[in-house]
Amino acid sequence: MIAGVLLDLDGTLYVGDAAVPGAAEALARLRAARLPFRLVTNTTSRSRAMLVERLRGLGIAVSAEEIVSAPVAAATLARDRGHAVVAPFLPEPALEDLEGVTLTGGITGSNNGRPTAVLLGDLGERWSYALLQEAFDHVMDGAELLTCSRDRYFRKGEGLALDAGPFVAALEYATGREAIVAGKPSGGFFYAAVRALGKGVRPESVVMIGDDLRSDVEGAQRAGLQGWLVRTGKFREGELAAGSIVPDRLLATVADLPAAVMLSP
Ligand SMILES: [Mg+2]
Repeated sequence: MIAGVLLDLDGTLYVGDAAVPGAAEALARLRAARLPFRLVTNTTSRSRAMLVERLRGLGIAVSAEEIVSAPVAAATLARDRGHAVVAPFLPEPALEDLEGVTLTGGITGSNNGRPTAVLLGDLGERWSYALLQEAFDHVMDGAELLTCSRDRYFRKGEGLALDAGPFVAALEYATGREAIVAGKPSGGFFYAAVRALGKGVRPESVVMIGDDLRSDVEGAQRAGLQGWLVRTGKFREGELAAGSIVPDRLLATVADLPAAVMLSP
């Protein structure tokens, strides 16, 4: 019995600038069936408010509370770990979701004190040697290395583009430190999303649907959820065929919901 659904955004509900056909209808059917859902994303190129607007433009009406995002989770993680001053290395729009911490250095270029943590995101083409060097300096000075994700790549046009992961790996390699992940595939992120689905909802009765074998499927499975893979977005037949991660279910697209949910034991 499925008690709730978590859905990835990029590559699952939309690809590039277009909604996956049937995505809006699939969410409408979930609402009609009163099956609680949350949208869970590692995206840091947009704030949660901007994601709500973007989805509205694609015909998908959701509230900010229905989106569980990595930057929001990262702010919580930073505060929980006692970091009051954080150096952000993620796109500007995400900064408004970093509540309760003072930002210094990084992409702000400001000096509001010495950071006790650095936070990475998918800075994309804004990465520079100088920014990587600054993050490296902070970590070597004792700052903790936090990241919204360690996703390897995302779908961009017909190809794939470097996500945050390769830059996280570079800093880990240089510093000998291991990054702490705030978003998918961390267990804490999935548990927070499951809690957001409602009281008493158990991880094992929740389905996570996404296009990333590691962050979506494997991460969910490790947290005790079901991990379902869609054949959209960054999906590559060869990666699935490698067989190291086996989805609990394979959907052609998110439009196969909720019929697929209802048919699931
Ligand atoms: Mg995705």
